[in-house]
Amino acid sequence: MSTLAKPQAATDRTEDGSFLSVRDLEVRFRTEDGIVKAVDGLSFELEKGTTLGIVGESGSGKSVTNLAILGLHNPAATEIGGSIRLDGEELVGRTNRELEHLRGRKMAMIFQDPLTALSPYYTIGRQIGETYRKHTGASKQEARDRAVEMLTRVGIPQPALRVDDYPHQFSGGMRQRAMIAMSLVCDPDLLIADEPTTALDVTVQAQILDLLKDLQQELGTAIIMITHDLGVIARTAHDVMVMYAGRAVERGTVREVLKAPRHPYTWGLLSSMPSLRGPLDQPLRPVRGTPPSLINLPTGCPFNPRCDFRDQVTGNGCTTERPLLAPAAGHATACHLTAAGQQDIYINQIQPRLG
Ligand code: ADP
Ligand code: MG
Repeated sequence: MSTLAKPQAATDRTEDGSFLSVRDLEVRFRTEDGIVKAVDGLSFELEKGTTLGIVGESGSGKSVTNLAILGLHNPAATEIGGSIRLDGEELVGRTNRELEHLRGRKMAMIFQDPLTALSPYYTIGRQIGETYRKHTGASKQEARDRAVEMLTRVGIPQPALRVDDYPHQFSGGMRQRAMIAMSLVCDPDLLIADEPTTALDVTVQAQILDLLKDLQQELGTAIIMITHDLGVIARTAHDVMVMYAGRAVERGTVREVLKAPRHPYTWGLLSSMPSLRGPLDQPLRPVRGTPPSLINLPTGCPFNPRCDFRDQVTGNGCTTERPLLAPAAGHATACHLTAAGQQDIYINQIQPRLG
């Protein structure tokens, strides 16, 4: 009954600006050890039909940011500040009921492990269909037809037969396709993909990323692609935001950030990414040191204890003053090095190492 392709909205922008607009987002958890500042003043924008890649080491706040957008944090233990506007509607401060209504219909998520999202006890078709019925009130038959249509769309062979399979009868790659089918069944405008291919082998990973790109072109979906892998960003994203300790340290178009990265942390990530350049089986070289405590952040730049270049900044700004990301759009970085200094270090010291 429903078709996959949606009529294009008259305008992708609301009066307030972008399709998704996150402003000064803060997410804090109260724990026994103190307050964890998992996201600490994050701003970004996303337009329909485009992909924002969010990259950073484990613990940098990528998932927490996106769970906040989806409204999936436990309100009893979480403080959320700032603003998240989706299509002009403020999401911060909405009730669980209201957000639940938006989830699935306007925004959906695909997880790293499909088995956390798919129940082992129901057929794939039933699970896709139930999501559809919940949001549209479609009949059982319509929901089943829709499930078959979605399985076709995500490239499951013999969809009319496989619709009655249980998740364990699908391979890992097919389960991931089924989860994509489930997340897209109500035509959400925003899709959040949290490490969607980390658990898959390289070939299947490429297929899934290509599938998401094709679906985006067809449906005009806005996608947030969360990953610790800059290779995934290079393959899928238009814009990229590099996160460190709950903040954005660099953002720009993928071209800008991968061609002329400016932040020492981004340089570290690039050096640790064998999948971007060089052979795939090369061992990872992680960024030296460990991420800071989010309860007691270092003063100044949160990256300064791990930074190889802080003594190239005159004065002691790196240890005393928090560098800010320029609020305007465009390629920006939160670093006390001058733009000329960043360029010089990148060209003369970092780029030759990357090969
Ligand atoms: P990642 O970038 O790997 O996705 P997360 O967003 O999951 O990182 O986590 C960011 C930080 O927030 C981590 O230090 C994590 O331990 C912390 N954190 C996440 N959820 C909670 C919670 N419910 N209570 C306390 N700390 C949390
Ligand atoms: Mg995560």
